[in-house]
Amino acid sequence: MDSPIAKHSNTRTIAVLLPLPLAGPYDYAVPDGVSLSPGDFVTAPLGARQMVGVVWGAGKGGIDPAKLKPVRAKLDLPPLPEDLRRFIDWVADYTLAAPGAVLRLAMRAPSAAQPKKPRRAVAFDAPDAEHPGPQLSVQQADAARALGDAVQAQNYSCTLLQGVTGSGKTEVYFEAIAQALRQGKQALVLLPEIALTVQFLQRFAARFGAAPAEWHSQLPDARRRNIWRAVASGEARVVVGARSALFLAFTDLGLIIADEEHDAAYKQEDGVIYHARDMAVVRAHLKDIPIVLSSATPSLETVVNAQTGRYGHLILPDRHGGAQLASIEAVDMRATGLPAGQFISPRLLHLMGETLARGEQVLLFLNRRGYAPLTLCRACGNRMECPNCSAWLVEHRYHNRMLCHHCGHEAQKPKVCPACAAEDKMVALGPGIERLAEEVAAAFPEFTPAMLSGDHSVDQVRGAIAAFTRGETKLLIGTQIIVKGHHFPDLTLVGVIDADLGLAGGDLRAAERTFQMLHQVSGRAGRAQRPGHAVLQTYMPEHPVMQALISGDQAQFLAAESDARRARALPPFGRLAALILSGPDQQQVRDFATMLVRHAPNGKDLHVLGPAPAPLALLRGRHRYRLLLMATRQHNVQALLRRWLGRVNVPPRVRLNVDIDPYSFM
Ligand code: ADP
Ligand code: ZN
Repeated sequence: MDSPIAKHSNTRTIAVLLPLPLAGPYDYAVPDGVSLSPGDFVTAPLGARQMVGVVWGAGKGGIDPAKLKPVRAKLDLPPLPEDLRRFIDWVADYTLAAPGAVLRLAMRAPSAAQPKKPRRAVAFDAPDAEHPGPQLSVQQADAARALGDAVQAQNYSCTLLQGVTGSGKTEVYFEAIAQALRQGKQALVLLPEIALTVQFLQRFAARFGAAPAEWHSQLPDARRRNIWRAVASGEARVVVGARSALFLAFTDLGLIIADEEHDAAYKQEDGVIYHARDMAVVRAHLKDIPIVLSSATPSLETVVNAQTGRYGHLILPDRHGGAQLASIEAVDMRATGLPAGQFISPRLLHLMGETLARGEQVLLFLNRRGYAPLTLCRACGNRMECPNCSAWLVEHRYHNRMLCHHCGHEAQKPKVCPACAAEDKMVALGPGIERLAEEVAAAFPEFTPAMLSGDHSVDQVRGAIAAFTRGETKLLIGTQIIVKGHHFPDLTLVGVIDADLGLAGGDLRAAERTFQMLHQVSGRAGRAQRPGHAVLQTYMPEHPVMQALISGDQAQFLAAESDARRARALPPFGRLAALILSGPDQQQVRDFATMLVRHAPNGKDLHVLGPAPAPLALLRGRHRYRLLLMATRQHNVQALLRRWLGRVNVPPRVRLNVDIDPYSFM
């Protein structure tokens, strides 16, 4: 079929979007005899280069036809579907990113760009909706039926599936996937951290008799190409993936699930800055299909949308099979009198001993990689800092290195203080999981604790989780990597070493996030027959977050959070946009930030805060300043920002990043 291609003096022109941060698509001429439609992949010249891009529509015109360069070739790839192109434009518009930068997310260079057919095409087994699944409880079956109806309706709806950890949310949304499969539709399951989904893949295969296609950034290029094509051709029916799976070129997408919808890992923090859960809702809306947001601890954003009726709300109040939620106690660390260098309270040690003696498992949670977060000279007070960032170097004893967790800078641990040359005065302060492992090994020499953190490879993480699931290891010490989704039948005790850690930064979601994380990690305990228990070590047991965790009253906690946010017009009751300015020359960045503020929009219910040096004032050698636009929901923040930024010129060497709906305030 012929596409709507504009004619200019007998030259057909089309607009091609290239996967680059340009203002928009560029016009090209279509060679005679070539037929191109929107969505087609083409190669086109840009300067001296040939680039792969996508036909975006008719040319804008207004260019001398003699100067127009021709498209070089049409590639043998399935075209980018219309709904995905609209989605790309929508995301660009919302995030103020260049459309080509968003397109790049949909192309992930080698996957789509290679004209060559992959040599070894892997077949994708079709998941079987009728493969026997578990017998659902009455509550589960009701929820599954409601989701099945939403899928059957084949139009947009958004449903919050809320249920305590272990209530069977996964089994329930599997039924929605089954319904999509029966209708010949594809399904997408988004997970915040795909690298940790061994158990998900196994459970999926157990339910559907075949594995889903798995999409994440660590796949080898050939495999990515393969999956990209299989999704675009419809061969792959179900995809489980991280954020970027949202930009795959599904032919028949009929359902999106965002599991652990509250998870901050859904926010992409560099490049195109977007929230994958929010954009998943947009994609469902544009495609007119249902989406399910699943969580035991939904975000306040989603809860408010459910309360106002914008989202449907299904609740699974009980754990499957009558398992009880873990009981939670706080240990007041002010009263423990622990000696320096020890971090496990006598109470927790006692419970660990009892649990291990019963042959059950213990999980210790500490959201700090490495050995110690701070190394200090006892003689002069010098702290080991990163030369490129406003951050301490973290000792990693296992690798015998000091590391910056922001830029990756590495140094040897010094034998003498680099500032005062004193010998043997450098001391490690505070715990990381490596140091905790030492303490545990000293207390329980007959057990070897396993450690898990972002320092470990995907395979190591999968291996350690599998070993713990099988009960081969009894003690696991980990960072937030262990919080999510895992089901460990013999785990009955969870110890949170520093429950206050997440409250320290104090951004607007600090309490909400701490509650979610500690609730989730406590929820790892007692998921099978034996009851579970969690210990929160805290210096503020009276804090509302600790009180809510102990009482288990999530609804009351959320209501209080909600009131506090509403009173200050903070999200979800108001809108925020952050401007982050950075550059190698501090004075230049500060001057530009000051100038920006002079041009700031003003109006009713509109405030611009800053400029202020960012908490991470220096990052990778760049000085950083922040501005925050706060507005009520009546304001169109994107339009305000466009007008504002249109009035200024960003100096060379200064970078300006716009973060709509910021989650990080560093
Ligand atoms: P959630 O996602 O709510 O945390 P899961 O779906 O992971 O809960 O379920 C927790 C555990 O209970 C899993 O091992 C799951 O297989 C099991 N389970 C849940 N519902 C059923 C059921 N109806 N029949 C058998 N096992 C179930
Ligand atoms: Zn650094």
